[in-house]
Formats: sequence, structure tokens, C-alpha cells
Amino acid sequence: MERTVSQKLTALLKMQSIDSKMDELKKMRGDLPEEVQDLEDEIAGYETRIDKFNREIKGWEDEISAKKQRKKDADKLILKYKDQQMNVRNNREYDALSKEVESEELEIQLADKKIKEAKTKIESKKGEVDKTKQILDERQKDLAGKKEELDSLLNESQDEETKLLKDREKQSKNIEDRLMRSYNKIRKNAINGLAVVSVKRDACGGCFNVVPPQRQAEIRERKKIIVCEHCGRILADVEEVIVEEKPKKTTRRKKAAK
Ligand SMILES: [Zn+2]
Repeated sequence: MERTVSQKLTALLKMQSIDSKMDELKKMRGDLPEEVQDLEDEIAGYETRIDKFNREIKGWEDEISAKKQRKKDADKLILKYKDQQMNVRNNREYDALSKEVESEELEIQLADKKIKEAKTKIESKKGEVDKTKQILDERQKDLAGKKEELDSLLNESQDEETKLLKDREKQSKNIEDRLMRSYNKIRKNAINGLAVVSVKRDACGGCFNVVPPQRQAEIRERKKIIVCEHCGRILADVEEVIVEEKPKKTTRRKKAAK
């Protein structure tokens, strides 16, 4: 079915009104969706950090266990060497065993030093874990609050959004694909999301540049699709300014034109 230009313009105006309402809904939600996302990212970062700290702590705990085992082994060896010293055949053998004992005693000292160091590191890292957990806790509370706020906003606007999406779907069937693509493109590039506007007080309703009278006359005729020469928005209508002397007549004429 071939539509007249006038029908196309009316369809575009309806589409614009649906999309503008949708923009309004999104504006109402404001920065909340983004803030929630940022907090979630931040929280994930803290969780990763805590995991890393805990892995480091585990590493030092393993080291402590290994050193404790090494000390036990050294104690056993020392007992064994001292036992062997009771049955040596000469001084040389005795001295050799004494050296072994000394060496194991050194191992024990070294292990004690390492254990002490590891314990210090664990203590300090546990402090960092606690601090990070505190921050994490605060952020999680922030997030819960913001999520609740966003959820209630979403709930409030959910029905309206569903209806607008349905309207949009329906309305887009009244507009040919090529025109719909242009409309979407203009809208995407427009700061205020307006692709289809009316001329108001002799100016483009999108960029507020003056539209010459001859062009306004063409727009009123609705014989072809006219775009603003300054901003490229589709000029679908001329909004009649209510003249003070005879307001009723002007209003009526506008209604008749629609
Ligand atoms: Zn314009």
C-alpha cells in the first residue's frame, strides 16, 4: 500500500512521540544503572584482591608447615647422630658426627627465622584483608541501596515501557524501512533525541534556526518530506502560533489541518 506523504509524516510524528516518552523514562532512571554497574565492577575488584591476599597467606602457611617439618626431621637426625657418637671407633668419626649435629642445629635456627618472617607477613597481610573486607562491606551496602532504588524505579516504569515498546513495534509497521532507517539515523545523531519536529514560531523545533516562510508553506502542504537545512531533522508540521486578536480561529484551523 502506497502511503501519501502526509500519512508518512503523521506516522513519523507518532513514532517521535513514542520515542520521546521512552527517552523521558530513561532520563528518570538517570545515572543509577551506570552507578550500579560501577559499584559491581568495584566490588568484583575488591573480591579479586582478597582472593589474591588469601592465596599469599596460604603460601606462607604452607612454608611454615614445611619448616616445622624440617625442624622435626632435624631433631630426629640430631638424636640419631648423638646416638651414633656413643659407638664411634675414633675421634675422626666423632668429629664428623658433631659437624652433622651442628649443621642440623643451624637448619633449625634458619627454619625458626623463616617461620618468624612468614608469621609477620601473614599478620600484616591479614590486616590488609580486614581493611579490604571493610571497604567491600561498605560498597556492598551502597550497592544494595542503589539496586533497591533502581528496582523500584524500574518497577514503576516497567508497565509504561512495555506499552511504549509495543506501540513502537506497531507504529514502525506504518513506516517504510528506508524512512525508518533515516529516522533512526537522525535521532541517533540528535542530542535531544528529536528526529521529527514541528516549526514553532518560525523556527525549527530541533535546532531553533529560522525556517523561511516559503519553506513553511511547503511544509504545510505536506506534499514532500522536508528536512531542516541546518540540522537535517524532518520538519513534519508548522505549529500555528495563537495570535492574540483571534485565537479561536487559529486553533480551529490547526485542528482542521490535522
Ligand atoms: Zn533544525
